[in-house]
Amino acid sequence: MSEQTKKRTAIVVGAGPVGLTAALTLKSRGISCAVIEADPEDRPRPGSRAIFLHNASLKLLESQYKGLGFTLARNGIVWPVKRTLYKGKEVYKKDYGITNTHDPHKLPPFTALHQDEIEGHIYEACMHAGVEFIWGTPVADCQTTSEGVTITTESGDVWEADYVIGADGGRSVVRNSVGLKFEGPRTQDTFLVVDLEEDEDNPLPLERIFHYQHPAMGGRNVMHVPFKGGWRVDLQLLENDDPEEFKDVEGVKKWLPKVMDSKYADRIKWVSSYRFHQVVANSFTDENHRVLLAGEAAHLFAPFGARGLNSGVPDAIIAVNGIEKALESKSDEERQKAIYASAKERRIAAKWNRDGSTTALHHLQGESPEMNMKREVAASLTAVAPKLGRWLDEGPYGPKFGPPELTTKY
Ligand SMILES: Cc1cc2nc3c(=O)[nH]c(=O)nc-3n(C[C@H](O)[C@H](O)[C@H](O)COP(=O)(O)OP(=O)(O)OC[C@H]3O[C@@H](n4cnc5c(N)ncnc54)[C@H](O)[C@@H]3O)c2cc1C
Repeated sequence: MSEQTKKRTAIVVGAGPVGLTAALTLKSRGISCAVIEADPEDRPRPGSRAIFLHNASLKLLESQYKGLGFTLARNGIVWPVKRTLYKGKEVYKKDYGITNTHDPHKLPPFTALHQDEIEGHIYEACMHAGVEFIWGTPVADCQTTSEGVTITTESGDVWEADYVIGADGGRSVVRNSVGLKFEGPRTQDTFLVVDLEEDEDNPLPLERIFHYQHPAMGGRNVMHVPFKGGWRVDLQLLENDDPEEFKDVEGVKKWLPKVMDSKYADRIKWVSSYRFHQVVANSFTDENHRVLLAGEAAHLFAPFGARGLNSGVPDAIIAVNGIEKALESKSDEERQKAIYASAKERRIAAKWNRDGSTTALHHLQGESPEMNMKREVAASLTAVAPKLGRWLDEGPYGPKFGPPELTTKY
């Protein structure tokens, strides 16, 4: 080993929310680790990303670091009402009647806060736990042998580890270096995602609203989702729309007042346009079973159904479970088996989630005449068959149930 070579039992590449979760979990199990992150510590995290954490994610984070799930819940909100409209007519409404979301003994069904803040709270837990961070250091290469992993950074530093968790996002250098590939399609439709700051003196009611074929928006689908301190508005563009017309701030200022109070046109924080990937890596571990992929390094989904970060959290924890088991194993065969089992379990879950968000997209897009007809008939019959209103309400998020039963306990 050269003088410059640094060695840890485990290295996490990427300090996004999934890498932070992995590092916190490694630390809580007493496994020596470091996080190598390309950006500097004080980086801004621009853009609209996760705003919805499921109860299962809160429980998992709480189980790895006491108080973290409750901190996230306390700093987020629960919207108690969901409504669905079809061409201007309400077809479904549910009021959960939740008033107290800050019960110190029970985690809420979900919490809604911006990803910036989610990351901030997990990072704070990492700092308390004493996780080591190497900021401003992009990883350039990651090579494995049956003995371990060698990471080379862009600055030429060499790091060695028994195991690496690749949590370096959609363009993962770790994934590419070890020869793994994304498989799957990309959506044709463009979605605009706009984040708005709430007027705290005069806030809107906390309702998640999905509006199919909004009449004021020329029949485009529009979704409103509240989160702590703000609103997310998703606009699904039509096939022949020019995204440029809608997506700059001036464009948003023209259409937003058609779907919300005009004061929100002066409260725009982010506008992003997306065509979503629906991809899963061909394996979540390398041929030597020394690297595990987690989060967006392993899969990318359209956000309807909030499956990205909510599946990145268990990816990270189950990767650590595999590493812990591998470190305790008595033979190389047992070691490889432990890593393979983690990778396999999370790849099954990722494929399940991709299918779920594909179902949601299919429902949303209404591209097939059959789906269009189903939606139209359902909307016309909700007064006599309320179940159809529920179908319209749940469709844009895909199936509610999770992947096949987990084999790994945590
Ligand atoms: C519009 C939108 C809405 C969403 N809403 C939700 C939601 O409500 N709920 C949900 O669960 N998910 C949601 N998601 C998905 C969620 O944002 C992602 O799943 C999540 O950000 C993935 O986190 P990550 O840590 O895997 O990757 P990232 O957040 O991309 O982090 C990767 C990290 O790796 C670093 N990195 C990259 N390359 C290198 C390198 N070479 N060397 C070192 N470091 C590197 C990056 O700088 C970054 O810090 C949404 C996504 C979008 C786009």
